[in-house]
Amino acid sequence: MSDCHATPAAPAERDTMSALWKGLRLKCPNCGSGPLLKGFLSVRHECPVCREPFHHHRADDGPAYLTILIVGHLMAPLLLVAYTAFRPEPLVLFTVFLVGTVGLSLFLLPRLKGALIAFQWARQMHGFGGHD
Ligand SMILES: [Zn+2]
Repeated sequence: MSDCHATPAAPAERDTMSALWKGLRLKCPNCGSGPLLKGFLSVRHECPVCREPFHHHRADDGPAYLTILIVGHLMAPLLLVAYTAFRPEPLVLFTVFLVGTVGLSLFLLPRLKGALIAFQWARQMHGFGGHD
């Protein structure tokens, strides 16, 4: 009697750091050349270059939490340093930090979303490994 219970081939290992770097650059974590997002934050259904599906992703609120974490930990100490070192007019301080905080948040949010989706892809989470 032959053994017909062959195990399915294990999915290939994916390089997490390489995928994270591609995701931070808003590129497909698989091929590195196709765009990951369409518009500002919408994730493409699949890569237009290599046809890697992205609809499995579950980024949810993760990129927003990471953005708040990073921007908050940068801007709060900077606010203290700017206030104690330069004693600017309150309106000047408010305006500079408003523009800086909003600008940095808008810069980081899509990149962190790309990195989070690339991390999920590299770790074969949520169906990226061929099973949901
Ligand atoms: Zn691709």
